Amino acid sequence: MARRKAREGAGERPAACPCGTGRPYADCCAPVHRGEATAATAEALMRSRFSAFALGDAAYLRHSWHSTTRPERLELEPGTRWTRLEIVETAQGGLFDSAGTVRFRAHYREDGRAGVLAEHSRFAREDGRWVYLDALPE
Ligand SMILES: [Zn+2]
Repeated sequence: MARRKAREGAGERPAACPCGTGRPYADCCAPVHRGEATAATAEALMRSRFSAFALGDAAYLRHSWHSTTRPERLELEPGTRWTRLEIVETAQGGLFDSAGTVRFRAHYREDGRAGVLAEHSRFAREDGRWVYLDALPE
């Protein structure tokens, strides 16, 4: 209630989530980043990780990594700005699956130049929630 009032008072539209669903961040990846909700599908987890990259949330990125592949520490490139996520293809990773893959293209800008990171990622459930496992070789 207080938040909505402040938002209207400021006369601003809520910021769209970086993950590209078109929903406001507060109703999209924010509850997942804060641990108030879990990603329902592997694709939703992928989206939440992309927006964490875009927002520089290294703690969430480690939290959403499988315990067997999680890096000791994660340093985000301060000069890289993640701009757009394209989900190319998903396989399994649904409500009743325990594993799945997502092929995506993550667009970024670095030193004023545009780039794309293409990856085919594997996701798995760990303690019931979706986490990122690793990247498949292309
Ligand atoms: Zn989102």
